[in-house]
Amino acid sequence: MNYRHAYHAGNFADVLKHSVLFALIQALQAKETPFALIDTHAGSGCYALDSEEAGKTGEYRNGIARLLFPDLQPGQATNHPLPPLLRHWLDAILALPGNEHGLKLYPGSPLQAARAMRSTDSAHLCELHPDEAALLRELFHHDHRVHVHNRNGYEALKALLPPQEKRGLVLIDPPYEAQEAEYRLIEAALKTALQRWPTGIYAIWYPIKLRSQVQPFLRWLQRCGARRVLRAELLVHPDDSPLRLNGSGMVVLNAPWNLDQLLREPLRAMARLTSQEHAAEWRLDWLVREDEAASGATK
Ligand code: SAM
Repeated sequence: MNYRHAYHAGNFADVLKHSVLFALIQALQAKETPFALIDTHAGSGCYALDSEEAGKTGEYRNGIARLLFPDLQPGQATNHPLPPLLRHWLDAILALPGNEHGLKLYPGSPLQAARAMRSTDSAHLCELHPDEAALLRELFHHDHRVHVHNRNGYEALKALLPPQEKRGLVLIDPPYEAQEAEYRLIEAALKTALQRWPTGIYAIWYPIKLRSQVQPFLRWLQRCGARRVLRAELLVHPDDSPLRLNGSGMVVLNAPWNLDQLLREPLRAMARLTSQEHAAEWRLDWLVREDEAASGATK
């Protein structure tokens, strides 16, 4: 348990993850009935970008900062308007108290979700590290919609699913400290979760170093029995080196039918703005379409 998200908050992987989360919450809010969010690996909820940790890696500079201040990047100055979803997501980050005079704080998934949620929606946040969980609890102590659990998120799914609301989203965003083992944990947790709540939306973030490391997991997801499985990826380096994070992806099980349309232009814009020495690449495709789902359930 060495991972601390404070070193990575707002990096290019967070940009992908959190804009997909924002799109999913918007899609869920198209209906008036409340929804539940279950965040299995919540982190501490909010990150100061002038902290020692963020300063050590400077990762946010190649992530959120590039979207907010493209003119600061050589060769990136642009007058392309941003797609509305991305604009609204960035506006929500800048509207966070503490960011009145510029980008000082980067909200993690729990805080981004809580700020987008309505009074009737609810969130269950699981965080195993006691210090991170304590920060999370402090952040939401006044918010009756939000429940913080200092426990293993994979195990908590058994107790939390299906949620009372019967509609909503599970976000699975683990640290992948032991990569192969983490994939197996996700698969086991999803297998149980899908049995308990087959209609829930499940969004799973994954790192991309070597492409071949991810393929078995993606194949498993293709056969897990979910209807409509959408994959969104953003790669800022070629996916051929195991030594660094080259990009990342989000797979969404039981995805809203129009999620690909919501994400296409935002992904194109993210790739344009996060390009480093190579042009960033993006990918958005259905791993399972509705009519294919029936034939492939995992034994
Ligand atoms: N989802 C957060 C966000 O987007 O802002 C970031 C989460 S960070 C990538 C992963 C977090 O999972 C870390 O804070 C780590 O302490 C926590 N963690 C690791 N293993 C866990 C487990 N089995 N259950 C719950 N939390 C865990």
